Amino acid sequence: MEKGTISVQSQNIFPIIKKFLYSDHDIFLRELVSNAVDATQKLKTLANKGVVKSELGDLRIEIIVDKEAKTIMVRDHGIGMSEEEVKKYLNQMAFSSAEDFVKKYKADNTIIGHFGLGFYSSFMVADQVEVHTKSYRRNEKAVKWTCSGEPEYEIEHIEAKPRGTDVILHINEESQEFLDDARIESLLKKYCRFLPIPIQFGTRTETEFEGEGEDAKEIKTEVDNIINSVSPAWKKSPRSLKDEDYKAFYKELYHSFDDPLFWIHLNIDYPFNLTGILYFPKLKNQFEVQKNKIQLYSNQVYVTDEVKDIVPEFLTMLHGVIDSPDIPLNVSRSYLQSDQNVKKITSYITKKVSEKLESLFKKDRKSYEEKWDQIAPIVKYGMITEEKFFERAKKFAMLKNVDGERFTLDEYRDKVKDLQTDKYDKIVMLYTQQDGEHDSYITTAKDKGYDVLVMDHVIDNHFMQHLEYKIENTVFVRVDSDTLDQLVQKDVANESVLSESDQGKVKDLFEDVLKDSGHQIQVKPLAPEGHPVLITKPEFMRRMREMQALQGMPGGAFPESLNVVVNSNHPLIATKLLRMRSQDKKQDFVKYLYDLARLNQQMLTGNELTTFIDRSLEFVS
Ligand code: ADP
Repeated sequence: MEKGTISVQSQNIFPIIKKFLYSDHDIFLRELVSNAVDATQKLKTLANKGVVKSELGDLRIEIIVDKEAKTIMVRDHGIGMSEEEVKKYLNQMAFSSAEDFVKKYKADNTIIGHFGLGFYSSFMVADQVEVHTKSYRRNEKAVKWTCSGEPEYEIEHIEAKPRGTDVILHINEESQEFLDDARIESLLKKYCRFLPIPIQFGTRTETEFEGEGEDAKEIKTEVDNIINSVSPAWKKSPRSLKDEDYKAFYKELYHSFDDPLFWIHLNIDYPFNLTGILYFPKLKNQFEVQKNKIQLYSNQVYVTDEVKDIVPEFLTMLHGVIDSPDIPLNVSRSYLQSDQNVKKITSYITKKVSEKLESLFKKDRKSYEEKWDQIAPIVKYGMITEEKFFERAKKFAMLKNVDGERFTLDEYRDKVKDLQTDKYDKIVMLYTQQDGEHDSYITTAKDKGYDVLVMDHVIDNHFMQHLEYKIENTVFVRVDSDTLDQLVQKDVANESVLSESDQGKVKDLFEDVLKDSGHQIQVKPLAPEGHPVLITKPEFMRRMREMQALQGMPGGAFPESLNVVVNSNHPLIATKLLRMRSQDKKQDFVKYLYDLARLNQQMLTGNELTTFIDRSLEFVS
């Protein structure tokens, strides 16, 4: 039996790389600059270990575009390569030296490369690639390697050149767009903004004013155009940073004037390596959901702002940066989802966020409550979608009542359980969606000693439904809901002042007048000081309609349905209505009381409202 290794022939793989390695051709620049950074970091590591003893000099990386020659050059002053290394690393595709180096010098995580293909991405945009390089080792000669994208290459010795590597791309016909300065600058800004070695792209003009008023002189100076800030906040130790530093970094990231609400500094190196800062943004309005505001980096190289397979969905509303060399970068999405490291990272992030919220809640409840409205959508969304987050967040999620007081779920159950338990022993939590709209219902509820919550966010319908499902014996009922009188009936079992046959007459009258409305008519002996007629909405149907509307579906499947509750103990019903002589007057009066109830529900508009007001004026005049 014979064993062997399958060797990948570059001849076969070359065209594939050219076309399909990366969907975005622009990442060639990211790859080349990353290699330059690696080469420079390696040199610094060698200097630290005493292997390189000479002065390192200026280590900045330069990007030089020559429109006439149609070339882009990436120049570094890093370790360079010997002839042997060029042959080993550049000719043997997919043979990355990063792993060798890290093993040998234990250079921890400062080295970016590990795919062993990055360099070849230059052939996506170039007909020909030249590498001029000189190793840091004194006795090695400078070499030039040239390759035109065919598997053949040339290698030759060149005149002495300073330590480091120049990679020169002869840009192909289809990729001329990359010879544009603005294009290159924006790519560098995108991918290289926080790389640890200074990256220079040409110069820029700085304008200063000397003197004051009309005599002020404009002074323009040419300065090196440095693209990146080499030590971004997330790489620093949390202890060395003040609040101001975090805020300043936030503004730098988003060119924003707003402060974030608060932030979480992520910093872990076992069982995976991850750093980063996540910010809770100020939400300007409740419908604003800004996703793709978290940037993913790998060793300070920008990778993407699509983080939804790494960050749990509900946290994609946060802003900030995550940097982890342990997230596989150039692989398919389905692979990412099943990757064990990614799973651990996702649950680590969720845990960190809930710990932060819990500590804010415990340490300074007042300021936490002030921020609650802003963070509520994120927390509620998380509770609905992530089981583990729900378990943690139920301790610090808040409910807000119409008086602006805030309670945890447990506190609120305790507060209302005595008065608001229905005949099935469920705690009934009353709520309104819009302060003001249910004013008379709220007043009635409060008169009875009930408390009313405000549930005014788009997510609240789902949130309430989820709480009902997760927390035993809890129901949410809107203040104008039909179920509310189950409570009323329990508390105040009213005697009816009308005989059964009179109640029947009242019901007939209302049914007759409202026969075309499709409403359910109920006659109930409620408190005499309450309203004569009330319109209530079946809780379940109403919620289903609202959820459908949220999903953009027409409400057809759950038609609007209303109950008209006639309070047979109210004097206007028990006495006035029944004593009226003419049938016409009775019908008129029923219609009027019904309109009054509709007015209370903001259901009377347009022409109907005008008619109603005219009639009321007749009554009082
Ligand atoms: P990776 O960067 O993933 O290791 P590449 O294909 O981009 O893979 O590069 C292959 C190897 O070529 C690198 O590991 C490195 O040893 C060498 N190399 C590439 N660019 C440079 C450079 N600018 N200076 C020194 N060595 C380099």
